[in-house]
Amino acid sequence: MSDLRFRSVEEASSRKAVKVELPKERVEKYYAEKVFNRQKMFEYLPAKTYEALVKAIDNKEPLSREVADSVADGMKRWAVEQGARHYTHWFQPMTGGTAEKHDGFIEHDGKGGVIETFSGKLLVQQEPDASSFPNGGIRNTFEARGYSAWDISSPAFIVDNTLCIPTIFISYTGEALDYKTPLLRALNAVDKAATRVAKFFDPEVKHVMCYLGWEQEYFLVDEALYAARPDLVLTGRTLMGHESAKNQQLEDHYFGAIPSRVEAFMLDLEIECHRLGIPAKTRHNEVAPNQFELAPIFEEANLANDHNLLLMSVMNEVARRHNFRVLLHEKPFAGINGSGKHNNWSLGTDTGKLLFAPGKTPKDNLEFIVFVSNVMAAVYKHNALLKASIMTATNAHRLGANEAPPAIISMFLGSQLNEILDSIEKNETDTILLQGKEGMRLDVNQIPELIIDNTDRNRTSPFAFTGNRFEYRAVGSSANCASALISLNAAVAAELDEFADRVERRLEKGENLDKVLLDEARRNIIFSRKIQFDGNGYSDEWKEEAKRRGLDTESSAPLMFDSYLSPSSVEMFKKVGLFTEKELEARNEVKWELYTKKIQIEARVLGDLAVNHIIPAAVSYQRLLVDNVYKVKELFDAETAKKIAGEDLKSIEKMAEHMSKIKQLVDKMISNRKVANKIESEREKAIAYHDTVAPLLEEIRYHIDHLELMVDNEIWPLPKYRELLFIR
Ligand code: ADP
Ligand code: MG
Repeated sequence: MSDLRFRSVEEASSRKAVKVELPKERVEKYYAEKVFNRQKMFEYLPAKTYEALVKAIDNKEPLSREVADSVADGMKRWAVEQGARHYTHWFQPMTGGTAEKHDGFIEHDGKGGVIETFSGKLLVQQEPDASSFPNGGIRNTFEARGYSAWDISSPAFIVDNTLCIPTIFISYTGEALDYKTPLLRALNAVDKAATRVAKFFDPEVKHVMCYLGWEQEYFLVDEALYAARPDLVLTGRTLMGHESAKNQQLEDHYFGAIPSRVEAFMLDLEIECHRLGIPAKTRHNEVAPNQFELAPIFEEANLANDHNLLLMSVMNEVARRHNFRVLLHEKPFAGINGSGKHNNWSLGTDTGKLLFAPGKTPKDNLEFIVFVSNVMAAVYKHNALLKASIMTATNAHRLGANEAPPAIISMFLGSQLNEILDSIEKNETDTILLQGKEGMRLDVNQIPELIIDNTDRNRTSPFAFTGNRFEYRAVGSSANCASALISLNAAVAAELDEFADRVERRLEKGENLDKVLLDEARRNIIFSRKIQFDGNGYSDEWKEEAKRRGLDTESSAPLMFDSYLSPSSVEMFKKVGLFTEKELEARNEVKWELYTKKIQIEARVLGDLAVNHIIPAAVSYQRLLVDNVYKVKELFDAETAKKIAGEDLKSIEKMAEHMSKIKQLVDKMISNRKVANKIESEREKAIAYHDTVAPLLEEIRYHIDHLELMVDNEIWPLPKYRELLFIR
């Protein structure tokens, strides 16, 4: 019965590193060779078209039809030269990941043949048959079909002979059906609001950009072992499996050398990334066995996010060349660390200044304090929403589940920043600042030169200040970062706008600018200090403490989604022009539906495995034991027989107990599912799945994992953790 398991273990352990063909040239030569970037635009487009396109990109203006036609022509010429035969509008549905529909570059030539062509119309706009993408009834509500449109701020690229055009996906009436559209809106909102505030310090500032540097964590599993685990194949995580005797206790994986098979994969992946213009830079082992990380150099958020989505799909392909499968699930294995995707997030001006980086002059530092205090206020006000924005059925295992830190958003600021905030709060800085204020001469000691020590870190915080940026760590490894960035940037934009309003009102009354700025920053700090938590986020006390502070401690994912519809969220999103209440409702429907489906699939898979794989294996081992007991009884007197086979008898009973429990629980799970499936409201259904189905997955697993310890290793049908988790 366990043939498959042993064959796959053998296959996996006999593999050698796949040889990677190194590019002949240096990286500068092949970097972004598959991207239609400005250099290629310059080369392939007529001068006028190039100018018009660059201007449209820089000023965020739409393209005229004429320009679009000319761009399409040049883009096609380049793509065909690169071997492309198809093109696709590449978009980001709310289901996660990316979607594409490929079309060939061919049209009838009117003479019975075809010609290779690509028009501006096809470049700029398309109507994918998107009826199968969840849209939470938006398209019913608004009676509109969706279309995709080129996001000219993100360059087209080629993957496997297909020209991919990054697009937004919206309904005809303008409602977002994807993640990219609201991300662009949020980035626009934060640009406007942050520019208002940055102008108080430097009137030359015209734009504020948002930067994102993601750190992608992932697991690798050998392909043969993966194929022998239906739960991994169908759900992306192991639904059962007893802990390996050795897992991450020694932390030897983190400090250890990267196995040669994995190194070959990483090298191949990096080369592929560089060809696609993804600035992959850092790679290392993570804490859990078989867990790794890849991080690029940070970029503007929209592009960085496209690059992350592209990376996730490229990873899958490259992994297969190396006989691996990538697991992007947030918690593929119980008992060891899960995977996240830290989002290093910052704002910077078009004059080249990072707004969360303390500077050398008091003025710089005042600006730094102003921006940090606004982030604090935004995160504090909207902590429940921010949590909802990173929550999914899969990330729920990483946050708020039994082996995970509690699902609470707090901010780590570090001891230095903490001291500064203290002194501002206590007015100490103010008095000195004002004394030195005359004639703009600011004493450097007032807000001292801030050198934030990068070693002052707290690894348990979901949102940490790390020197010149914030590291939003709660984001899940499989997520589209846009979800987190939409809420964060929107909340910060709303806060900065309010701040600018307050400051302007006081300036109109003739108050002093620096005093007003510091005053208003202080107000933010005092208001939002409760969001700051520098202690151990994994401790139980924190949960209690957070509750006392009024932070959101909801642990049920479907209920967390309610925060999108809370009055403060609705108002905030409306204010920054991001979502209407209807859109929010529709998007929540999708979230609830997805949640339900994920749990539903897991429940089905586990039910099948339990009944068709595990119980039969346990029964056949039980039969061996029964057989043995019989024979021993025949051969020996009762007392000796008991000595010899007494333990077997106990095992038979114990196994019977586990098996009958499994059967009962699987039945219960099925009937709970039936009840839940009848519920019409997506919200109520998701809640029912969360409350009555998901917990049974854990209970069933408990019994299966105990059987795994009892049943003869030779009979156990699925690769075990110790086999899955250690690549040589
Ligand atoms: P860590 O020590 O947190 O593991 P890594 O080097 O793995 O750091 O990743 C840090 C990420 O943060 C990189 O993508 C890096 O480019 C990015 N980063 C650095 N500075 C900024 C910034 N100001 N804004 C956004 N991202 C940044
Ligand atoms: Mg890192």
